[in-house]
Amino acid sequence: MENRDNTRDLLDSSTSTKTPDIYDVAIIGAGINGCTSAYFLSQANQKVVLIDQDGIAAGGSGAAGAFISPKFTKGGLLKELLEEAYLFSLNFYSQNFPKHIQKAKLLQIANSEENALRLNDFKKSTTLSLLEGRKEVDEILTTEAKEAVSALLEEGGVVNAQAMCQALSANIELMKFKVEYLSYEGGLWKIGDISARKVILATGSYDVVMKMPYLELRRVWGHRIDVKTDTKVAHSIHHHLSISPSSQEGIVAIGATHNLHFNPFSSETYDIEAGRKELLEKAAISVNLENVEVIKDYTGLRSGSNDYLPIVGPIVDVKETMNEAFKVSKIKQMKDESFSYFSELYMINGTGGYGFVLAPYLAQQLTQHIVEGVPLKTALTPTRFFRRWAKKQG
Ligand SMILES: Cc1cc2nc3c(=O)[nH]c(=O)nc-3n(C[C@H](O)[C@H](O)[C@H](O)COP(=O)(O)OP(=O)(O)OC[C@H]3O[C@@H](n4cnc5c(N)ncnc54)[C@H](O)[C@@H]3O)c2cc1C
Repeated sequence: MENRDNTRDLLDSSTSTKTPDIYDVAIIGAGINGCTSAYFLSQANQKVVLIDQDGIAAGGSGAAGAFISPKFTKGGLLKELLEEAYLFSLNFYSQNFPKHIQKAKLLQIANSEENALRLNDFKKSTTLSLLEGRKEVDEILTTEAKEAVSALLEEGGVVNAQAMCQALSANIELMKFKVEYLSYEGGLWKIGDISARKVILATGSYDVVMKMPYLELRRVWGHRIDVKTDTKVAHSIHHHLSISPSSQEGIVAIGATHNLHFNPFSSETYDIEAGRKELLEKAAISVNLENVEVIKDYTGLRSGSNDYLPIVGPIVDVKETMNEAFKVSKIKQMKDESFSYFSELYMINGTGGYGFVLAPYLAQQLTQHIVEGVPLKTALTPTRFFRRWAKKQG
């Protein structure tokens, strides 16, 4: 797996002498959700600008593993969604950006009895084809890993997160500044000097630019490492954490930790040594890696929703919707269309630990919605959270 820090020159809006253009779409946030949205929208002939306070893949996306895997559990919307998104994204990345994805077989190993039951249910119900045997990795697996219930898929992938975001946004205009405020005047969104017909908020786990009292995002801090090892890992292995196949240079990615309590925006400092220890100990439950040397640490926040489903779609204007005529008691019967929405304001977020799996799939649907009016899945739009919140307002 290629592992370069990709940086590129950014336009700083405060020093730019360019005459302000009108963009079709301004996207705030250049992580994987913002970059895939920019890619699909520009493919659909939209004039797009990406705005990020720190540059491409500077947030959670730059820290990601970024393993492409389905969810190994029994039925449910999230499992179905991730299965579709996994197939879509593997194909999308391999067809369009083959240099930045490393494909390999994917071995999922149950890490508890409960997990074994779920994995068995998955094996019975999945439409994905399962392989028998795992001889290419058998000799490096620990006894515990060998004896546990497992499932082997023909295809998994590991994306070079930073390089992929750079490649997706290579032809997109990029501006570097922090968006503090958005306003809508005369049919256009104004963001500093920028005017755009539509805006997409792809701000990950950072504070939202637009106040949405009904929406709470969960922030999960994670740490992953790249190690050099003499052991050749042939598959993507997922057990207590994920272990990538070896790159040509003998580098293996291990990650990630899940820390719900650490907040990088506070004065607390993150203990990188403790994080490395946890990662190496968890990896050692699954595989015997020889002569391990940590060569790079990546840390960042991923943002998830309270119902674990991603969030994509138009944003309800609370003030307009909760006017005097609005009856909380009627909310059950109201259709999503009967709420008031900000004009041409959308979000894509809440992809949790599956951002690289979900982003291409969701960004394509968001593009089709914005450009062609194709409806989005109602279970995924932010409106679901508005409904739940509004019911409680009494
Ligand atoms: C350690 C770790 C490991 C992971 N492993 C995997 C994995 O194996 N597979 C997988 O699929 N996913 C993985 N993920 C999850 C995945 O990385 C996230 O779901 C994804 O990065 C979310 O992308 P995003 O674009 O929503 O957010 P981000 O990447 O955080 O991007 C948000 C961007 O918005 C910018 N921004 C925010 N507010 C403003 C503002 N006001 N003005 C200007 N810019 C702003 C930020 O600077 C940032 O660049 C992992 C995440 C972490 C942290």
